[in-house]
Amino acid sequence: MVACYQRSTPTGATHYLYLYHLSRHQVRVISLNTHITQGYLLMGNDLWYKDGLRFECLQCGSCCTGFSGTVRVSDEEIAALARRLGIPEAEFREHYTRIVWGGAISLIEKENKDCIFFAKERGCTVYEDRPRQCRTWPFWRYNVYSPGHWKREAKRCPGMNRGRHYSPDLIKELSEHDGSSRDF
Ligand code: SF4
Ligand code: SF4
Repeated sequence: MVACYQRSTPTGATHYLYLYHLSRHQVRVISLNTHITQGYLLMGNDLWYKDGLRFECLQCGSCCTGFSGTVRVSDEEIAALARRLGIPEAEFREHYTRIVWGGAISLIEKENKDCIFFAKERGCTVYEDRPRQCRTWPFWRYNVYSPGHWKREAKRCPGMNRGRHYSPDLIKELSEHDGSSRDF
């Protein structure tokens, strides 16, 4: 075992994560809280993308619309977004964010489940200040864990496997700080 992490959930329950090294590239996460899928979430085997991967956003909006998800925002990102909207941070937090599992903060959605900052005609209306997890897509840790994970996500993102070539080093850098999962 490499480490055991402990923290409290919003409901006051205690949540434990046990990390085991399986190989140089793999860490297995065993969670005692059923909200986290047991598996290999933190690090993948990056050898499978040693030739790099391609991605070019086609601005289809699929990843920003139509389903309820979590778009994590850090304090710095909240400050930038509030500045952009010309409102105090407290007001931004109240009107544009919600607390999600683990105490993280997420952007909210519209009634139709589109991201609060998505506009049909314009796409992302806060593009320059979009959160890190939006910037690092699709090179999230989970997505680049294996060819299977990558292939599954590519079914809903037509920009994957086309366009700009990303080197393994850049993919690794993006995926290790993807913003889509909290650092435990
Ligand atoms: S689903 Fe993929 S191609 Fe479509 S907007 Fe999102 S990142 Fe771009
Ligand atoms: S902030 Fe922008 S890029 Fe991120 S989910 Fe919302 S609309 Fe999409």
